[in-house]
Amino acid sequence: MGAAAHAGRIEVIAGAMFSGKSEELIRRVRRGIIARKRVQVFKSHLDSRYAGLYSVSSHDGAELDAAPVDSGAEIFRQVRPDTDIVAIDEAQFLDAGIVDVVTALAAAGKRVIIAGLDTDFRGEPFGPMGALLCVAEEVTKLQAICVRCGELACRPQRLIDGRPARYDSPTIMVGGRESYEARCRHCHEVPRADEDQRALELPEARVAGARS
Ligand code: ADP
Ligand code: ZN
Repeated sequence: MGAAAHAGRIEVIAGAMFSGKSEELIRRVRRGIIARKRVQVFKSHLDSRYAGLYSVSSHDGAELDAAPVDSGAEIFRQVRPDTDIVAIDEAQFLDAGIVDVVTALAAAGKRVIIAGLDTDFRGEPFGPMGALLCVAEEVTKLQAICVRCGELACRPQRLIDGRPARYDSPTIMVGGRESYEARCRHCHEVPRADEDQRALELPEARVAGARS
C-alpha cells in the first residue's frame, strides 16, 4: 500500500455547544491548507447559524466555505478523487450511513475530520456520533463553560421561552423558538412529563386541591 493510502484516518472533535468544535475544525482545515493539501468542507444542511448555509462558522466569528449536505451518501458523491482532507461539521444531524462513508474515505487515503455534538439536549448520544467516536483513530472531547456555575460544561441546555425543554421535546427542532446554553451535568435540566405537570400546575388548582 502506498504512502498516500496510509494517510487515511478519522479524527472526531466532539463536545457540547460552545465548546469550540467549529473553531478546532477550522484550525485543522487552515493548517491543512497551509500544508498545501486539497480540502473539501461539508456540513449538515440543518445548520445555518451565523454566516449561513454555505459556510462553517464558530461562535467567535471564524468562517470557512462549506457545502451543505443532507446525508453521508451525498458527501461520498461529492468527494473528488484528488482530495486529501474531508472536513464535516455538525455531523450529529447526519444519518447512520455517514459511518460507512467516512470509513471508506479513510480507506481510500483521505484524512477525515468530523465535528459534532456528542449529546442531544437530553444528554443522550446524538445520531451517529457514538459510532463515529468508535471508528475514529483520534477523539478530541471539548468542554464549554457552564453558564450557571462556571465549571466545565458537557451538555446543551435547550430552553423554550426561557424554560428547560421537556424530555419529550423533539431531538431536532428546526427554526423553532428554542435557544441553547452550555451547562455542566449537574446544572443540566430535562424535566420529565410528570415533573413538568407539577411545574405547570396553576396556583388556583393548588388552592382548589387544598380545599378538597
Ligand atoms: P461549538 O462549535 O462547539 O458550538 P464554537 O467553536 O462555535 O463552538 O465556539 C466556541 C467559542 O464560543 C468560544 O471560543 C467562546 O468564545 C464562545 N463561547 C460562548 N459561550 C461560551 C461558553 N458558555 N463556554 C465556552 N465558550 C463560549
Ligand atoms: Zn454547572
